[in-house]
Amino acid sequence: MAWFEKLAIVVFMVLFMECFAWAAHRYVMHGWGWGWHKSHHEDHDGWFEKNDLYAIVFAIVPIVLFVVGLRWEPLWWAALGITVYGGIYAFVHDMLVHQRGGFRWVPKQGYFKRLLQAHRLHHAVEGKDGTVSHGFLFARKPAVLKAQLRANVQPARRPVGAEKTHTMPTLAVKK
Ligand SMILES: [Zn+2]
Ligand SMILES: [Zn+2]
Repeated sequence: MAWFEKLAIVVFMVLFMECFAWAAHRYVMHGWGWGWHKSHHEDHDGWFEKNDLYAIVFAIVPIVLFVVGLRWEPLWWAALGITVYGGIYAFVHDMLVHQRGGFRWVPKQGYFKRLLQAHRLHHAVEGKDGTVSHGFLFARKPAVLKAQLRANVQPARRPVGAEKTHTMPTLAVKK
């Protein structure tokens, strides 16, 4: 295989994994898989959370692909792409946003600030429903996410004295 073919597979898999992660987070973790993910939306002591089981389960796929890829090279590079995504994810989500491992860097501008804000807005809702921003590397503008959040909030849970924009029909997001 030529180097550009290998690179194309890796890049494709990183992008594919972002789509996969979004869908899994949106429909599995905030759906029937909430039992494990719930721990990630709650305060807790200790370093591990039940949600980490997802990382272990998802790691099985590239491990299998690395082994099978010894016989068919494209799969090996696909496995590498998934692993690269896992590394980026661990950095952005676990270290940058949740400051695991004692990592303390608060970006003041640019892409990383946007990612940080977007995922913090994901955690703005405590429960399973009404959350926004389920992706990780592609994040919408904080203002858009805040509008979505407002539209998702049940009338009964709206803060007292909420500003008038909460009732603007144009902010309504179809679920
Ligand atoms: Zn979540
Ligand atoms: Zn998180």
